[in-house]
Amino acid sequence: MTYAAGPAPALGPALDLLASGPLVVLTGAGLSTDSGIPDYRGPGRPPRTPMLYGEFVSGLAAQQRYWARSHLGWGRMRHAEPNAGHAALVALDPDLLVTQNVDGLHERAGQRSVVALHGRIAEVVCLDCRAVSSRAVLHDRMTEANPGFAERHAAVTVNPDGDVEMDDVEAIAGFVVPACEECGGVLKPHVVFFGENVPADRVERCYAAVDGLAATGGTLLVAGSSLTVMSGFRFVRRAAKAGTPVVVVNRGATRGDDLATYKLDAGCSELLTALAARRGRLPATA
Ligand SMILES: [Zn+2]
Repeated sequence: MTYAAGPAPALGPALDLLASGPLVVLTGAGLSTDSGIPDYRGPGRPPRTPMLYGEFVSGLAAQQRYWARSHLGWGRMRHAEPNAGHAALVALDPDLLVTQNVDGLHERAGQRSVVALHGRIAEVVCLDCRAVSSRAVLHDRMTEANPGFAERHAAVTVNPDGDVEMDDVEAIAGFVVPACEECGGVLKPHVVFFGENVPADRVERCYAAVDGLAATGGTLLVAGSSLTVMSGFRFVRRAAKAGTPVVVVNRGATRGDDLATYKLDAGCSELLTALAARRGRLPATA
């Protein structure tokens, strides 16, 4: 990995602000694009509607549609590796890192203090007995129950939530969805679906960290999120309301641009690496 030669002059004031003081960081899909996981809200991507919670729990047909596509996506996503942006954030070691990503790459990179706001795609929860189990184990069970399925649908586009574009109605209707090994119940990825609430304890931990910045002269840094969903945007509103500076790094417009002290239209890996160098915390070579 190489370091950026130095920030462009326009980035200077934002890096000056971020150069010292406590940090809380909020990350989104834009952080993982350099790991090969596409950002479905990024520039040039077609609009897409993930399955709502209410639809998932509506019955077997919806669950087959979800799992058939997710099975294909996970086969790719599980091999993604943390990138320079993740490494720079480990080096920066913010008071708290809040991520909207479910890919688990911050944890894999060794981030110390993480709240995975929307859960982790590598875990599965039973809707009946609430047992949490490994996605890798379920993946093997699904592969076994659906011989040749992944091979027949190898050419698919993977989205950040592990879903793919695949509309083969017949294949979906024939997809076998394994049940919970504990109780035979319905399995769901252990992530927060649209139409579902983020668990309150997670939200409170994030609010506490953001509120703490006001007292300590810290900054909220948003990296790679368009802030489209309220689950992340509310922390930006909270910080701005308290007079805490907010810096947004994202390719393309975000819902928080009007609240940001500085908005940087830049790639996360480059900017975060430059910031880590500025704060004297060079990331370990990936
Ligand atoms: Zn169960």
